[in-house]
Amino acid sequence: MIQLSLEHLTKSFDSNLVLSNLSFHINEGEFVSILGPSGSGKSTIFNLIGGLLRPDDGTIQLSGEKINGKRGSISYMPQTPSLMPWRTILQNVLLGQELKGKADPETAREMLHIAGLTDYENAYPHELSGGMKQRAAFIRALLSPQPVILLDEPFSALDELTRHDMQKWLLDIWSEHKPTILFVTHNIEEAIYLSDRILILSSKPAKVVEEFKVPFSRPREGELLLEEKFLACKKEIHTALKNQ
Ligand code: ADP
Ligand code: MG
Repeated sequence: MIQLSLEHLTKSFDSNLVLSNLSFHINEGEFVSILGPSGSGKSTIFNLIGGLLRPDDGTIQLSGEKINGKRGSISYMPQTPSLMPWRTILQNVLLGQELKGKADPETAREMLHIAGLTDYENAYPHELSGGMKQRAAFIRALLSPQPVILLDEPFSALDELTRHDMQKWLLDIWSEHKPTILFVTHNIEEAIYLSDRILILSSKPAKVVEEFKVPFSRPREGELLLEEKFLACKKEIHTALKNQ
């Protein structure tokens, strides 16, 4: 069943045409990644879905309801973690839940523990490194109760090992609760490892130029990344991206 649908979206900033007649659909419980050149409009797409921006033309629908310009109907982790400086880390990760009237500090503490942030529960954002802030913003998005989660390059500031831990953790959470996830990354491996489907965007104005269905069964183990078939898939997507 289609949960999120973007139909004929157009968006300009003054004379800068960023999206032109962009359409795609995401099914309920699906994990979809978007890959595209930098500056192609990926974050703009998320700002539109999150209701922070309004499209000039076109429709965004969530479970059949038009949500153009409407905030709060999806869970959104923006590219730059927007933690509130006057709230502690625990208070920050609970924000999405508080807004919907059901804070669960116990689960939040468990998640902070898994992400290695237990010692920072009562710290303020300025006391954290970039990677720690990113993990806190990630947890906030996961805890937020909406059925659709947008993650804009959520692991870009993490070292390789932490990134891999977070990827595995995300897959665990996803397979347990089956939220619908739309994920932006620059990392082809990450997109293949995590997703059911990958959308390749053209450079500005962005359009979906190719779509890959990831052929690997789940659960996926880290060893998959070293297999021949994985590398072949990576190469195919790399070529598609290079042609943009
Ligand atoms: P990506 O996330 O794919 O790197 P963005 O969506 O951030 O790309 O940006 C796409 C284009 O839109 C760029 O040319 C950028 O300068 C422009 N843009 C994005 N947000 C704004 C904004 N709020 N005001 C003006 N221009 C913007
Ligand atoms: Mg971006």
